[in-house]
Amino acid sequence: MKDPVQRYVKGDLAVTFDPRVCTHSAVCVRGLYDVFDVAKRPWVNLDGASEERVVEQVKRCPSGALQVSLASARKP
Ligand code: SF4
Repeated sequence: MKDPVQRYVKGDLAVTFDPRVCTHSAVCVRGLYDVFDVAKRPWVNLDGASEERVVEQVKRCPSGALQVSLASARKP
């Protein structure tokens, strides 16, 4: 069975989205429309804002469907 978790990567930044967890609060869309736009495919565009803004917004996701990690933090 295909893993439903979507993964978006740009440089050091990796954002994952688990649709099974999302509660459709639209906090991400309202907070950072240039990155999170459900009318587009893919709906996550990491070119739409700075890494810092993306990280800030992902941390506001109330369900935890969005998660972020930085390559620098992933290295041992
Ligand atoms: S903020 Fe999180 S829970 Fe709300 S719509 Fe976005 S991904 Fe889903």
